[in-house]
Amino acid sequence: MTHTLLPDPSVFSQASDASEAAVGVAQPKVTAPGRLVVLTGPSGVGKGTLLRHLRKRHPHLYLSTSATTRAPREGEEHGKDYYFVNRESFEQMIEQGELLEWAEFAGNYYGTPRQPVAVQIERGNQVILEIELKGARQVAQSFPDALKVFIAPPSPEELERRIRDRGQDEEAAIMRRLNRARVELAAADEFDVTVINDDLEQAIAQLEQVLL
Ligand code: ADP
Ligand code: 5GP
Repeated sequence: MTHTLLPDPSVFSQASDASEAAVGVAQPKVTAPGRLVVLTGPSGVGKGTLLRHLRKRHPHLYLSTSATTRAPREGEEHGKDYYFVNRESFEQMIEQGELLEWAEFAGNYYGTPRQPVAVQIERGNQVILEIELKGARQVAQSFPDALKVFIAPPSPEELERRIRDRGQDEEAAIMRRLNRARVELAAADEFDVTVINDDLEQAIAQLEQVLL
């Protein structure tokens, strides 16, 4: 299956709120455009954990909320962790050009809603996209200035242990994630920066250097 990004170069020049759009007045840009940061790494490597800690320490960091057709895990909230939607709604979003990038991962769709990202970038803010490899490649192609950060595990064995210990996925889903992890790990050198998430505090400190 091929996945086409919707390379809409106007993404960063859309009106930044509904009232501007309604009157159709071109607003002069008062800030330099913000920065898009892609954060990628195999499932279970600790991306979510790292970002949760970073957000707690630096609440101003803006993290894009993705849409997915995956079922919520225990404790996940609609609109906070993800927008949980069915396949029909997701496919409608694709057709209507509402996604900046999207991909199918381990049997479910995942995608980045375009408009909230465009608004933040236009305001001069940094936006972090925590996405898998196919989406990261789409973003890299359409937005070559995006900073690409890869999160790697200390070893494949530790990655498997973390996925299993998380205890949130069924065996079949774990196997799909582990198979995909091999492909993702092999692509680490496509990224600008690699952070190894071995000691959590050290990884957080390295990410702070990159993001702040
Ligand atoms: P991802 O978002 O990349 O899929 P998670 O953040 O859900 O990964 O982390 C997967 C599991 O690994 C969780 O149980 C988490 O507590 C654990 N974990 C994350 N970072 C570390 C670390 N540096 N050392 C040990 N365990 C970790
Ligand atoms: P999980 O189901 O573990 O939350 O996420 C599975 C994978 O989907 C992770 O690698 C995560 O980074 C990725 N992902 C989450 N949101 C998006 C998205 O909007 N687009 C893409 N391409 N991948 C995403």
